[in-house]
Amino acid sequence: MKSCSFCGNKNIKAILTEYTFKHDGKYMIFNNVPSLQCEYCGEKYFESNILKQIESEFIAVQNGKKVTKEIIVPVEDFSIFEVA
Ligand SMILES: [Zn+2]
Repeated sequence: MKSCSFCGNKNIKAILTEYTFKHDGKYMIFNNVPSLQCEYCGEKYFESNILKQIESEFIAVQNGKKVTKEIIVPVEDFSIFEVA
């Protein structure tokens, strides 16, 4: 990739980042996913083969494959908050 398709900046760096996969109201978080990030606007780009791997791993876990770690995520509806 030569430049950011959001802002056109040409400084793109390779990073490892967190990726949250969501499907049918189910979530899976992947740590240390290789990504390219625009140094200007922070937009992250993932290669399609990486996204495919993430999706197939998600499906495997839905089918019973064990994961290294599970977390409990709090959920709240924003409408309950009083506007100050
Ligand atoms: Zn950018």
